[in-house]
Parts: sequence; structure tokens; C-alpha cells
Amino acid sequence: MSGTLEGKVVLVTGASSGIGRATALALSKAGARVAVGARRADRLKDLVQDAPGEMLALDLDVTDQQSVRDAVAATTEHFGGLDILVNNAGVMLSGPILDADTTEWTRMVETNLLGSMYAVHAALPHLLERKGAVVQVSSTSGRTATAASGAYSATKFGVTAFAESLRQEVTEQGVRVVLVEPGFVSTELTSHITHPGIRAMAKSMAESMRTLQPEDIAAAVLYAVTQPDHVAVNEILIRPTDQA
Ligand code: NDP
Repeated sequence: MSGTLEGKVVLVTGASSGIGRATALALSKAGARVAVGARRADRLKDLVQDAPGEMLALDLDVTDQQSVRDAVAATTEHFGGLDILVNNAGVMLSGPILDADTTEWTRMVETNLLGSMYAVHAALPHLLERKGAVVQVSSTSGRTATAASGAYSATKFGVTAFAESLRQEVTEQGVRVVLVEPGFVSTELTSHITHPGIRAMAKSMAESMRTLQPEDIAAAVLYAVTQPDHVAVNEILIRPTDQA
């Protein structure tokens, strides 16, 4: 991977909204050929239409290993290889541990943690071949756990741990691993919270500050993946200025 994205091939998971969508657009604008995966095909169709460069929409459910393998295969078949995986798909179903609906824990672990691990596993041979990069979208919740974020934080701590192991295994072979840890970003993420009190808290938190926008995170990803080959940006922690 060199300092330019011209001709590079990127796969962005969870690209149908929020951070993934903005990142796909930013990387496309910078010259990359981008494969975008998610479950909402209609959203991906709109994204492809808005893209400044060549973009390929893929049906992808990261909780399904075969779907992940198929998305990586479709990307490499269409574009001839893969340089960068942006492992972004995620859900946040916050709530207290007592009385939690544990199917929500399962969904978070399967999507945020196992899903991103499956994507690394499927993409890694291609990234090693091209001396590429993996961008792991974690969270400030992957650094600090707070009340009502136990299961979500556990998945993001897991993403961070997996990224560091991966970094140590592949850095000497030229593959760079970038961990991105956003604070509060205005996206659809909090709209899926089912606990009424926690959902209201997230809404009032958003209203209390100038939140980050998905484009702010996309800019951080773009910065990390356009450094010269000898520079590995390993970690980017990015919060709204107003978030204590
Ligand atoms: P959005 O809800 O806007 O985006 C989430 C994306 O993940 C969607 O494109 C969704 O697509 C996709 N997704 C969810 N489940 C699956 C699945 N099973 N298979 C494939 N794709 C899936 O939220 P954000 O943009 O905010 O979230 C993106 C990432 O950023 C997440 O990992 C989140 O944890 C992280 N993050 C967000 C922060 C924030 O404040 N917003 C802060 C810190 C980290 P679809 O439903 O179409 O499949």
C-alpha cells in the first residue's frame, strides 16, 4: 500500500449508512475502487449512484461466515484483488445487564466481534499478497466501559484485542492495522436501542453537544490509509470536542 488510493481496492462492511457510507464515499473520491457490503440493498443502490468512482454493491450479512467469504470473493473477482478492508459493520443495543434481552447480546457479539473477525479471516490472504491494510472500527467503548454499555463494550474491547494480535502477526509482512475509536457520531446507531430509558439518554446526549459527523470519521480513515508504506497509524481516538 502506498500513499495514494488510485487503483486500490477497498471493501467496506456496513456501508449502507453512517460511518461506513461516508467512508466508502471518501475513499471512492480519493480514487479507490470500492466494494460496499450490508444487508439493505436499496441503501447500497443509492450509495453506488452517489459514488464518484467505481463502486460494487454486495449483499453482506457479517454474522454469516459464508456471506463474508462470498463478499470477499466477489470483490477480488470483480476488481482483481483487495488492498484495504474497512471492518465497520456494527450494532449498539445498549442497556443494563439486569433484565437484559440476551438475544441482543448475541446479536452484538455476532455482528461487532465475530463478524469483523470473519472478515479479517477471509480478507487476510489477499491483504498479505498486496501488503494492504485493515481498518477496525472500534469505539471509545472499546477503551472505557460504562454502565449500560456492558455487552457493547465487551464486543469493542474484543475488536481492539483482536486488532492488536493481528497487528503483531502481520506488520512485518507489510500489512497495516488501524484501530479507529470514535466517540459520539450522529448516525442511525442509537435508533436501534430497545431500552426506552437508554434510548432517551442517547437522544439527550446527542442534543447536548456538537456531535461528530460520519464524514469526520471517514477523514480519519482516509488519513490513516494514505500514509507512506513505512508509516503505520495504529490507533485513532476521535471524540467530539464537547464530549467529556
Ligand atoms: P449505522 O447504524 O448508521 O451503521 C451500521 C452499519 O452496520 C449499517 O450499514 C448496517 O447495515 C451495518 N450492519 C449491521 N448489522 C450488519 C450485519 N449483520 N451485516 C452487515 N452489515 C451490518 O451506525 P454507525 O455508522 O454509527 O456504525 C458504524 C460502526 O461505527 C459500528 O461498528 C459502530 O459500533 C461504530 N461506532 C459508532 C459510533 C457512533 O457514535 N455512531 C461511535 C463509535 C463506534 P445493514 O443494516 O444494511 O446491514
